Amino acid sequence: MKILVMGPPGAGKGSQSSKIVEKYKMPSISTGQMFRDAFNANESIGIEAMKFIKEGDLVSDDITNEIVRLRLTKKDAETNFLLDGYPRTVTQAVALDDLLEEMDTKLDAVINILSSHDVLFERMEQRRVCKVCGASYHLRFKKPVVDKVCDKCSGELYQRQDDTHESVKRRLEIYETKTKPLLDYYSKQGILYNVNGMQSFDAVYEDIILVLDEI
Ligand code: AMP
Repeated sequence: MKILVMGPPGAGKGSQSSKIVEKYKMPSISTGQMFRDAFNANESIGIEAMKFIKEGDLVSDDITNEIVRLRLTKKDAETNFLLDGYPRTVTQAVALDDLLEEMDTKLDAVINILSSHDVLFERMEQRRVCKVCGASYHLRFKKPVVDKVCDKCSGELYQRQDDTHESVKRRLEIYETKTKPLLDYYSKQGILYNVNGMQSFDAVYEDIILVLDEI
């Protein structure tokens, strides 16, 4: 199964994706996480990408397409993968289709998690992320057992540089102008499935599984 999980920033793509890949035993490919890992490892691509990320801007299509090409052509992505947060522009979507065609394959489904801007703002400002494993918490709804410490790996929790109010506003604007047109792109391919993201985490997950078990 080759799928992609879409939605505005803060819709829960990352947390839902982690649970989906655990169930279906598939690699999760998150461009945002790859950029953050490269930055934490002091790699030049990560340092370059972080200049855009912390302002709430998109990283260039060229850098992003390249990092995905390198990852998708690895052996473990041959039969199954989940893409989280990529593509985010029509240029990236076309590049992905070209790459998949070269690999003689295609996407099976695009899951789109819908949410309102109010809910998204609240979620992102209260979000804390583990520096080590990337697990995501919410200061009110999904608190870690010990303050500022990850339940899963005991790593330190921090607020992402792009989860500030100004940056969130910018990311939502960019989502509306650059990423939303992709919904039409995938709807025309007949592989778009919308899921209501304004429910509990478990209810959203169950709706996604209902879709994936049917394809
Ligand atoms: P995410 O973890 O998916 O919220 O991504 C965090 C940030 O990484 C985004 O706000 C962008 O700055 C950057 N990023 C992630 N994926 C992409 C992409 N497909 N294209 C461009 N920039 C991206």
